[in-house]
Amino acid sequence: MSENFLRLIPIDPQYVPSQVAQYQVKSLLASFLPEKEIQVKLSEEVAFIDAGNNLELIQCPACEAPVSCEWWSAMMDHAYASSHFLNLNVTMPCCATMVSLNNLHYMWPVGFARFVIEIRAPERGLAERLQPLIQPMLGCPIRKIHAHY
Ligand SMILES: [Zn+2]
Repeated sequence: MSENFLRLIPIDPQYVPSQVAQYQVKSLLASFLPEKEIQVKLSEEVAFIDAGNNLELIQCPACEAPVSCEWWSAMMDHAYASSHFLNLNVTMPCCATMVSLNNLHYMWPVGFARFVIEIRAPERGLAERLQPLIQPMLGCPIRKIHAHY
């Protein structure tokens, strides 16, 4: 059986909303989506927030060249081993541009975050409806990740 999750994260991987903001968002979600299974998670370390089986094409944000899975995996391993994802900067093999792993062009968005809102079995269009409500509460732009398993 396949499962879908909507994950909402701050665009800045190290951003943690205030406790008041976290509380407001939890209350909003509970009243807005009373029937949904929702998790609001805060972790000590920056974590990679994946899109499940949706990870497919990755491209260089500077020149649009496709990124090989081997190179990407090696850079991910290095970023975790050297800084626990605090330093996400990489030099692209295609055009030598310095970019963040957080800003590569992922056909299915993924990201890095300490703060994650996860909603199980979201209906179509939910992310678009939630974003304008949640973003001002959290005080930062958010990224929408559609994970499929
Ligand atoms: Zn490039």
